[in-house]
Amino acid sequence: MEAKDLSELRKEYKNCTRCMELLNSRIQVVFGEGNTKAKVLLIGEAPGLNEAKFGIPFCGMSGKILNELLSTIGLSREDVFVTNTILCRPQDNRNPAPEEIENCRTRLDKLIAIMQPKVIVTIGNFATERITGKKGIKSLRGKVIDFTHEINNLKQAIKVVPIIHPANFLYNGRNPKLWEEMKQDFQVIASVIGKSIPNHQEIKQTRKQKSLSEF
Ligand code: URA
Repeated sequence: MEAKDLSELRKEYKNCTRCMELLNSRIQVVFGEGNTKAKVLLIGEAPGLNEAKFGIPFCGMSGKILNELLSTIGLSREDVFVTNTILCRPQDNRNPAPEEIENCRTRLDKLIAIMQPKVIVTIGNFATERITGKKGIKSLRGKVIDFTHEINNLKQAIKVVPIIHPANFLYNGRNPKLWEEMKQDFQVIASVIGKSIPNHQEIKQTRKQKSLSEF
């Protein structure tokens, strides 16, 4: 039977056995987390060790940066849904293999069909290529790409905004120029969902501003 909502889909994939290598080292499937009715769906690469331990995507260092970027446009994790291109952690955080991405294709297609988000934010190269078929995050970041999601003869028009993976920012010595570019890409997301952008004062009132070295 087709899953009607995300909790049914979550159950369907809880004991997935499609990828033998991932299954052998698996702590748990990290299905996704957030607001199931959100307009914004964020798709990362794959769970890391923290994510596999806690069962929550982006709950480690990259997640802190992601949360900070969301807050620059007045959003929090409760306003969005976050999942990954693949649901299980590759050992030693290696890249997801092409067949693992394919094995997780139907699950991600079903999730998009159920959620019908207005915008999909693809985080990094793997998610961007998986959704748009295009390579090269450096040139695609911050662009609005029209995408038609098709499943079971149902077509949905969705905007896709690729962004730099927060891990890149970490591995680039927290480069301030890169940080500015990442914030600009979030302004693009805000404009796609028609969200007015809070000014600095409003952001300060809702949360303590962090300096780059605090992440
Ligand atoms: N990086 C990702 O791509 N996904 C996560 O869930 C965590 C880190």
